[in-house]
Amino acid sequence: MVAERMKLVKGSPTVGLAGRVAELRAQGEDVISLAAGEPDFPTPAHIVQAAKEALDQGFTKYTPSPGIPELREAIAEQSVSRNGIPARAENVLVSPTKHALFASMMAFAGPGDEVLVSDPGWVSYLPMVHLAGATPVPVPTPEAGGFALTPEAVAERITPRTRLLVVNTPNNPTGAVYGLAALRGLADLAEDHDFLILTDEIYERIVYEGQHHAVASFPGAFERTITVNGFSKTYSMTGWRLGWAVAPVDLLKPINTVQQHSVTCATSFAQKGGVAAIRGPQEPLEAMVGEFARRKDLVVEGLNAIPGLQCAEPPGTFYAWARYDEDLDSVAMAERILEKVRVAVIPGVAFGKEGEGRIRLSFATSTEDLKRALARLREVLG
Ligand code: PMP
Ligand code: GLU
Repeated sequence: MVAERMKLVKGSPTVGLAGRVAELRAQGEDVISLAAGEPDFPTPAHIVQAAKEALDQGFTKYTPSPGIPELREAIAEQSVSRNGIPARAENVLVSPTKHALFASMMAFAGPGDEVLVSDPGWVSYLPMVHLAGATPVPVPTPEAGGFALTPEAVAERITPRTRLLVVNTPNNPTGAVYGLAALRGLADLAEDHDFLILTDEIYERIVYEGQHHAVASFPGAFERTITVNGFSKTYSMTGWRLGWAVAPVDLLKPINTVQQHSVTCATSFAQKGGVAAIRGPQEPLEAMVGEFARRKDLVVEGLNAIPGLQCAEPPGTFYAWARYDEDLDSVAMAERILEKVRVAVIPGVAFGKEGEGRIRLSFATSTEDLKRALARLREVLG
């Protein structure tokens, strides 16, 4: 009975595994989850307070579809000052991050169109392309090139049907932080071949090595770039479902049309929390990223100490992207780890064919749990 397009789309492996962990825990199992990428810190108190006050003041109705003016203004100001993106409030659409990506795909890719996506790449890009009725074109990003899309590899796959290139920096699952030259090269290709860039920069603030660069900050790039970002990772606000898209007004309009016919607007009181997050103290974020950096060192060292496992330092995000020597597919490997030692990890193939032979481990988990998980992994793999 399901629609034809659903034949190409399965449930999200990251979201699904998080559900499986919750079920096992409800049965009394001691499962350590390094699966879904979700900071283990509470949302900073001043952000929660702002949303509480909004609720108490009855700020519980629809907002304008693109978002409340003060949040659009705050996002635009930060896009200019932090990222060098020439945005004004009219260039901002407030939307749950995942929905901003989905609505952008719906707005710009349809049957017959091709969307270039890195392989490995985040689990939801390909399903979103399929749901839009378009065709995903994976572009391998080998470890030798630091897991970043190269203009050469992208250029080889451009056709007259290419409509969108998805960029994700810092990258989930590899942790790659794209360099200036690569991003410039990608922006030039978009201009030369007349396609759009959809760039997902949600891990922008979680960088340990190098520097984050926004694609839309390059001369001429803003005109053909949709920048998506959000509060989930930066301020530990995953449950708030709040993020944004920044784009030229003519590109933002069709995305907003999809939003008007789907979620209407982002949650009203959550948007007030968003204003507090951007305008308020940034110390909680700095403390969180400092803690992630310490955990990264612990996890990378711990994984590399296990015979048959290798893991490079991720320059950004809170994921370790580990390779194993054993001749076993990654789904079977993740299942074995979960069954035998009750540690949940994501199989590499969930991120694309190039992810086979790998597992992704999130270190947005307490140091104590990470130490216990490493000991368990040593038991089953070492
Ligand atoms: N993009 C990437 C690369 C992600 O890892 C995630 C996962 N949270 C999202 C987008 C979606 O973010 P949100 O939960 O804010 O919708
Ligand atoms: N983005 C996180 C992850 O990759 C959370 C789950 C999801 O939305 O995919 O694990």
